[in-house]
Amino acid sequence: MTLKPLVVGNWKMNHDYVEALHLTQQIGVVLKNKAREHVDIVVAPPFVDIRSVGSIIESERIPISLGAQNASMYDSGAHTGEVSVSMLKRLGVKSVIVGHSERRSIYGQTDEIVAATVQTVARNGLEVILCCGEGSEVRESGAHLEFVRGQLERALLGFDKKNHSLITLAYEPIWAIGTGETASSEQVAEMMSYLQAFLGERGMSETRVLYGGSVNGENAGALVTDGRAGGFLVGGASLKVESFMAIIEAVDDCYSRSR
Ligand code: PEP
Repeated sequence: MTLKPLVVGNWKMNHDYVEALHLTQQIGVVLKNKAREHVDIVVAPPFVDIRSVGSIIESERIPISLGAQNASMYDSGAHTGEVSVSMLKRLGVKSVIVGHSERRSIYGQTDEIVAATVQTVARNGLEVILCCGEGSEVRESGAHLEFVRGQLERALLGFDKKNHSLITLAYEPIWAIGTGETASSEQVAEMMSYLQAFLGERGMSETRVLYGGSVNGENAGALVTDGRAGGFLVGGASLKVESFMAIIEAVDDCYSRSR
């Protein structure tokens, strides 16, 4: 079975709720004029925008789903500044990005926190977009495959097998995030095969594996056809309707041709 590809827009700390509403409406208009039936689409706005973005998605019946950029590993209680998975779920969030390299490097998200968050998200029935990826030093040393395997083994430690279908992986080499230096199709293809084998060993072959790192409308097609990416996690290019839709269109084209 070929899994439908997924494109996730990670808006990071961009767009206040008014800008977020505007962008969501623009996406809705484009999709109304031309549906992209071969691709699933998620947008992950800042927490404070989620309610309004969710309302527009629902009222205008926009065929995209709502994601969050992070969530607490705790269920509730004395955790000042945190947002729980159940609160997100109540707002219509369907998936949560976990272990993004910015959370790991700037906010001290350790492998243990990543693993606990993965479990909390899945226990609440939401999908997990689990990020992994090496820095440039690891890539230059040639240890990128083992490094990513280690990250994933630690992130999935103690994960309940019955929730495997809730996992999507996002391979995001840190040196490619926000730098304009996209990984080559060969580099992506190597990692995709490695991760498919890793998932196969765990009985998780029906898991989507995305690529993230300076994806745009020009490189997206090759990263799918030659790099064999199962979709993308997109930062910068998801902030404007034209650049986000160009990626979605490229992915949709690749998959509609392959049918
Ligand atoms: C990201 O932060 O997940 C990302 C892939 O960013 P960008 O597309 O801007 O490289």
